[in-house]
Amino acid sequence: MAFDIDMIKGVYASMGERIEKARELVGRPLTLSEKILYSHLWEGTPSKQFSRGKDYVDFAPDRVACQDATAQMALLQFMHAGKPKVAVPTTVHCDHLIQAKVDAKTDLKRANETSNEVFDFLESVSNKYGIGFWKPGAGIIHQVVLENYAFPGGMMIGTDSHTVNAGGLGMVAIGVGGADAVDVMAGMAWELKFPKLIGVKLTGKLSGWTAPKDVILKVADILTAKGGTGAIIEYFGEGAISMSCTGKGTICNMGAEVGATTSTFGYDESMDRYLRATDRVDVADAALEVKEHLTADEEVYANPEEYFDQLIEINLDTLEPHLNGPFTPDLSTPISKMSEVAKKNDWPLNVEVGLIGSCTNSSYEDISRAASLAKQVSDKNLKTKSKFTITPGSEQVRYTIDRDGFIDTFNSIGATVFANACGPCIGMWDRYGDKAANGPRNTIVHSFNRNFAKRADGNPNTLAFVGSPELVTAIAIAGRLDFNPVTDKLINEDGEEVMLDEPRGYELPPEGFAVEDAGFIAPSEDGSGVQVAVSPTSERLQLLEPFVPITTESLQGVKLLIKAFGKCTTDHISMAGPWLRYRGHLDNIANNTLIGAVNAFNKQTNFVKNQLTGEYGAVPDAQRAYKKEGIKTIVIGDHNYGEGSSREHAAMQPRHLGVAAVLVKSFARIHETNLKKQGMLGLTFANENDYDLIQEDDTFNFIDIADFAPGKQLTLEIVHADGSTDTIMANHTYNQSQIDWFNEGSALNVIKKENA
Ligand code: SF4
Repeated sequence: MAFDIDMIKGVYASMGERIEKARELVGRPLTLSEKILYSHLWEGTPSKQFSRGKDYVDFAPDRVACQDATAQMALLQFMHAGKPKVAVPTTVHCDHLIQAKVDAKTDLKRANETSNEVFDFLESVSNKYGIGFWKPGAGIIHQVVLENYAFPGGMMIGTDSHTVNAGGLGMVAIGVGGADAVDVMAGMAWELKFPKLIGVKLTGKLSGWTAPKDVILKVADILTAKGGTGAIIEYFGEGAISMSCTGKGTICNMGAEVGATTSTFGYDESMDRYLRATDRVDVADAALEVKEHLTADEEVYANPEEYFDQLIEINLDTLEPHLNGPFTPDLSTPISKMSEVAKKNDWPLNVEVGLIGSCTNSSYEDISRAASLAKQVSDKNLKTKSKFTITPGSEQVRYTIDRDGFIDTFNSIGATVFANACGPCIGMWDRYGDKAANGPRNTIVHSFNRNFAKRADGNPNTLAFVGSPELVTAIAIAGRLDFNPVTDKLINEDGEEVMLDEPRGYELPPEGFAVEDAGFIAPSEDGSGVQVAVSPTSERLQLLEPFVPITTESLQGVKLLIKAFGKCTTDHISMAGPWLRYRGHLDNIANNTLIGAVNAFNKQTNFVKNQLTGEYGAVPDAQRAYKKEGIKTIVIGDHNYGEGSSREHAAMQPRHLGVAAVLVKSFARIHETNLKKQGMLGLTFANENDYDLIQEDDTFNFIDIADFAPGKQLTLEIVHADGSTDTIMANHTYNQSQIDWFNEGSALNVIKKENA
C-alpha cells in the first residue's frame, strides 16, 4: 500500500556518486541539506556549484503529497496538463474538510455527507491518474506521510506548508503551491532558489517537563516568524541524536512558523527504530547501508560555524517549557515567566480549552506522555478545570492508543476525541456555531503549530497559546494559563496540595503499532477508463479555464485595490474555516479575497474604497466592479506578505478577479512563487519607505513593463488623486522561465503548450 522501496533504493544507489561529485565541485565537506539537494538535481549528477540564496535550481523530488483542500485545485490543474498518470509517487489525504463539533464518529459521518462531492472527485481523479488516496478519517497528511512514506535522504514536495514535518525522518520536504505540485506530477523539473543554511546545534538532553516542542518554540523566539525565510534549518548535536524521530518531526513541522524552506535532521538510530516500528524494515535496511550519505560530513558538525550561514545553539539541559502566543507563534514566554507576562498583557488567565494532537504533536510518545498526566487526575483526586480535546494524527495512532488504554484515560477527564483530521487546527472547529465572530475574549492552549487570530475557532477574541501536549494537558487540568507544573501545586478535591509528577511515556508502542483499516485506497493500474465528473452547477467544484496573459496595455491605469496594513497572511488573503468548502470552485471562493486584510487607510477589514464610485464596501465587491470595467488592480502589502499556508488560492483568486500585481515590502517564499505561477507580478519596493507614498485613490502605470527582464527593476508611476505623481522602483526575483509564465498567462499554460 505504501512506500515504494524500489524508488527509495534507486535514490540511494545514485547518492554516493552524486555527493562525491558535489563535494569535489564545492571543494569542502557537505552538510546533510547539501547532500540531499545535490543528489536530487534534475540534471542528475551535479556539474556545477550553486550559490546559496541566489541560484534558481531545477530539482527532481521523489514524492508529492496533497491534502484535500489544496488537492482540489492542484488536481483540477493537473487534469489540464495532458498526462495519463502522475510521474512520481503521489498521495492525496482527506483531512482538512472534516469539521470538529461533537465527536469523531458523528463529525466524520457529517463530513462524508456534506463533502461527499469533493471526496468523490478526489478519489476518482486519484484512481484515474495513479494517485494513492487516503480517505476521510485516515489521518492528517503529515502524520500519515511520516508513518508511511518519508525516508532519510529523500526529497518530497507537498501542497501544504507543514509538509516540512517529514524532516523528522531526515528528508528535505518542502511545502509548495498546487501549481508546483502539478509540475512534478507532470514529470517536469521543480524549481527552487538554492536555500541558505541555518545550523541548530542541540547540546544536552531533554528531560522532565521539557519536550521537543519547546526546542522549536525557542527557535521561533530566536528567529522570529520570518527569520528562516529562504533557508533550510539543519539540526544536529547530542541533543538531536537523543530525541525521538517523532519529536524531530514536531520540530521540523514548526519550521514553517519561522518561514524556513524546510528543516531536517541527520540519520540516527531513532529513525531506524521508527522505520522498523512502522513496518518499513526494507527502508530501514536500505538506509543503514548508505547511512554516511544521510548525515553531514563529520567535519561539518565539528566546525559548524564554517559551513552554515547562521548558527544557533540551544542547551536542552537548561531549556524550559514554553508557551508561544497569542496571535503569533514566535511570541515566546518561558512557563516560569508566564504569570508575570500574562498579567502585564492582561491575557485572560482562565483557560477555557486545552487541545492536543494535530499533525504537529500526535505521536505515540506525545499521547502517552499526555496520558500519564491525565491519569494523575484520578490518582491524585483532582478535577480537570478546562475542557480537553484530542485530534489524533492518524487512524494508526488512534487505534494503537485506544488499544493501549490512553483514550479511556483521556475520557476519564472528560475529553472529547475528535476525528483523525485537522479540525480545530484550521478553523474547522464549530465551537460557537455561527456566532464565532462575536465570541467572547478567552484563552485556549493547544499543541498545534499556528495561532493566528481566528485560526482555531473563527473567534477573533480567542487568544491561543501553543505548547507541548504535556504542558497543554497540565494547564488544562489546572485551568490556568499561569500554572507552572514545574513549581506550582494544585488543590485536589480533598483540599490537599498536590503536584503533578513529570510526564512519562513511550517513544514507540511497546506492543507495536496496530490498525484495522488504515484508510488507504490504491489507484487502478490502468485508470484510463475512469470518468471524473464535475457538475456544471456544483458550488464546490469548477473546472478551470486557462488564465489570459496580462498585457502591457492593461498595466497602464491600474487602480489600487487595497493597501494592506501589517500582517497579511494567506489566511487574510484567502480565509480558511467555512471557506474551505469552496477550495475547488475558483469563482465562489474568490468571494473571500482579502477580506481579512486590514485596510491601511481606515484600519478596518473588508472595507475599501471603490475608486469608480467613491463608495466603501467589501474587497471582493470592489474588485468585481473593476473587473467588470476591464480595469486591472494592484495590492500593496507590508513585510512577509503571504506568510502562512502554501495555498495557491491566495494567488489564483486575485488573479481570477483581475488583480495584476502585488507590491510589498517583502514576501513569504511560497506565496511569491504562487503569484509567479499564476502569471501575476509579485514585486517588492526597492525603497521600503515608498510604501508610505501610496494613497487611497492612486492609479499606477507600469512604465517599462515591456522590458520585463531578469534582474532588472521595474519603474512604476503613481498618479495621485490631485494629479501629482511619484515614480518608484520595484524589485523582482523573476528568472526567464518565470517571465515566460507571466507572458503566457500562467505556468500551467506553459506546461500545456509544451505537452501539446
Ligand atoms: Fe492540518 Fe493543522 Fe497540520 Fe495544517 S497544521 S495539516 S491544518 S493539523
